Amino acid sequence: MARLLNVSALSADHLTRPLVCHASPFQAAGLERVTKRRLLLACLLLSGVIYFLRGRKGAVLNTPALTPLPESEEGALSSEDERDEDSPVLLNMTSWSAPVVWGDSAVSEWRRREFSNTAFRVGLAVFVVGRYSQYLPHFIASAEHYFMRGDAVIYYILTDNLRNVPTLQLGSGRRMRALQVTEMPQWDRLSRVRMSLLASAIKEQIQREVEYVFCMDVDQEFVNPVGTEILGELVATLHPEYYGMPLYTYPYEKAEVSLAFVEEGEGDFYYTSELYGGLCSEVYALTRACSQFILQDSEASFHALQYEESYLNRYLINRRPTCVLSPEYSWWDSPRSPEVPVQRIVSLGRECASLEPQKRAARRC
Ligand code: UDP
Repeated sequence: MARLLNVSALSADHLTRPLVCHASPFQAAGLERVTKRRLLLACLLLSGVIYFLRGRKGAVLNTPALTPLPESEEGALSSEDERDEDSPVLLNMTSWSAPVVWGDSAVSEWRRREFSNTAFRVGLAVFVVGRYSQYLPHFIASAEHYFMRGDAVIYYILTDNLRNVPTLQLGSGRRMRALQVTEMPQWDRLSRVRMSLLASAIKEQIQREVEYVFCMDVDQEFVNPVGTEILGELVATLHPEYYGMPLYTYPYEKAEVSLAFVEEGEGDFYYTSELYGGLCSEVYALTRACSQFILQDSEASFHALQYEESYLNRYLINRRPTCVLSPEYSWWDSPRSPEVPVQRIVSLGRECASLEPQKRAARRC
């Protein structure tokens, strides 16, 4: 754990020592001489100290990562390190020197400043097929509020039904384009063709209109600002449930027959398919390669365990992302998700899938 940026270890240790010192006089006096009242008082005092320590830990966890990028690999998290729940880790650089983005870090502030003098346009592409149209108005409303606020954005809605795309009030410099796709709303079918449809959309339209494109699932919402700190050549997002977990736990494709196959010991991180992006040329190359892997596997009647996510992860091992988004940008309430300084994008669909049945109703899943 020496290479990890452990922000809580110092404070927790510092706070524990006085607790031990306070406990010893009770022992020295001899428990037999302690009256019931004193014992009760001691318990109350002890619970107070424990309560204080817990609050302190929470405060540390909620502190944004304001550490500068290390010059070497000091901040890099080896996938072989176990996630230590008691010591929050804010990884800020990968072993290949790509930044890991936390929105409130000094590096992100610097990146936002850098982009403030540059003209650029960003595309945000989502599929809205069948019943997923119910998510669209809220997705766009939250993006209008938090996504690249004040910048030029085009929403690309890839849909089987143009009538499902409502006319929404958008901010200045922001537009929406509905692109017809001829897909039937069948989840397994759609999961095989999404990458190929995206590749075609980028080639035929998106690359002519924007420099950067991000692909997202529509069953998500923006809950805090997401700005130019996420722009990069090839951008991938850490899957929250595998953040800081050892490499052997990642659900990479294990079947050797598949083009998504990842050999034991290979790989860096496990990325989510909920959000990825970058320069149009890079995202086109990614979607085209993945769609070819998927097509070839389908011809051999094989489809990877995690659908597109498996192919995406395979691709990102060969072509490592130049910018890695922290789980702030893809978070959902799951016992396996880490606490993050700020939740920025929340996946409603994955959250529902990870909740117990009784909690699902409360979240209107
Ligand atoms: N999707 C869609 N219609 C469907 C299934 C999926 O439009 O019938 C789109 C939608 O944008 C959704 C994305 O594909 O957010 C990913 O699907 P889903 O959320 O079911 O996949 P998961 O994230 O659970 O793997």
